[in-house]
Amino acid sequence: MTGWGKSRRLVVLSSSHEIKMSLLPIIQSELGPPESNHDARPWWTCPFHTDSNPSLCILPPFGDRERWKCFGCGEWGDAIDFIRKLHPDFSYHTAREYISSLLGNENSHISRCQDDKTPCFSPPHGLAACQSPPDDAWRRQHLRMVRRCERSLWNDPDHLNYLRSRGLSNATIKAARLGLGVDPPGIFQITIPWFHHGKLRAVNCRRFDWPPKYKCERGSRKGTLYPDVSLDPARPVLLCEGEFDTLLANQEAGQLVQAVTCGSASDASLDTVAALSLCPLLIFAFDSDTAGNKATARLLSFLPHGIRLPLPTGKDLTDVHLEQCYLRRAFPKFLKRVTR
Ligand SMILES: [Zn+2]
Repeated sequence: MTGWGKSRRLVVLSSSHEIKMSLLPIIQSELGPPESNHDARPWWTCPFHTDSNPSLCILPPFGDRERWKCFGCGEWGDAIDFIRKLHPDFSYHTAREYISSLLGNENSHISRCQDDKTPCFSPPHGLAACQSPPDDAWRRQHLRMVRRCERSLWNDPDHLNYLRSRGLSNATIKAARLGLGVDPPGIFQITIPWFHHGKLRAVNCRRFDWPPKYKCERGSRKGTLYPDVSLDPARPVLLCEGEFDTLLANQEAGQLVQAVTCGSASDASLDTVAALSLCPLLIFAFDSDTAGNKATARLLSFLPHGIRLPLPTGKDLTDVHLEQCYLRRAFPKFLKRVTR
């Protein structure tokens, strides 16, 4: 492997921007110089299918992100996708390391591990560490709680109506397995279970008349995306501020966009940021208030290709949708504009 040093290196995610911008040298170092410059774009013979005419090119930049595409076999992606397709045994991290060695990055974005034998996976400053899932005993106990709370909710028209007043349909409430719990005694809370690969990982609670407004059950492990989905990099991603906005966006615009949340911006982990960094069209749908602006700025520092959904000041996605059927009217137009 060209330029592959003996020492292990950690590429922190702040270098993703730089990697994305450097598709030409990466492809060139793997396939040689472009074989044609038709349409003022560099073209190569595609290594992923039997290609006699150069069919693979670098597309015009999308935002600050570059992508390649083969018009013969239809393969496409970013720098990481290219390297992983060429070297199928590479993990995401290995591909990143390989790319930085191709580019000869020795700058501040890359920190050498103290001990060359120990891979160093401490997250970049400000990202939550990836947590191991809760143990089986916690899961069993909290699955029982989730089931109990689901039953309580469907026997409590008032709280069911609270969720419906946020635009959520019965089918959405059921599929998300929302429930109604009591904690402390006499104080109601909506329970929101977080699953990851089908396994319960956290239970977040929206509390009524008792601070804080949101509180996770003790022993919960966030650091994943909600709901439990594998993101399709070919589809736009809408990163929402909370679970209810996320559920509403999937219910109303799920055919256009994959809505997810990582909880609060401070719950964003290396894993979730890595998954989101692979999605070329990433839209932040945070509230247009001080906290939302701060959260957006924070996530933009890790995901510089993200763009912001322009919501009116002081409103969240649910408010705007309830007022003007936003997710069915203005949002599809916004999406069309940014993908044009
Ligand atoms: Zn091809």
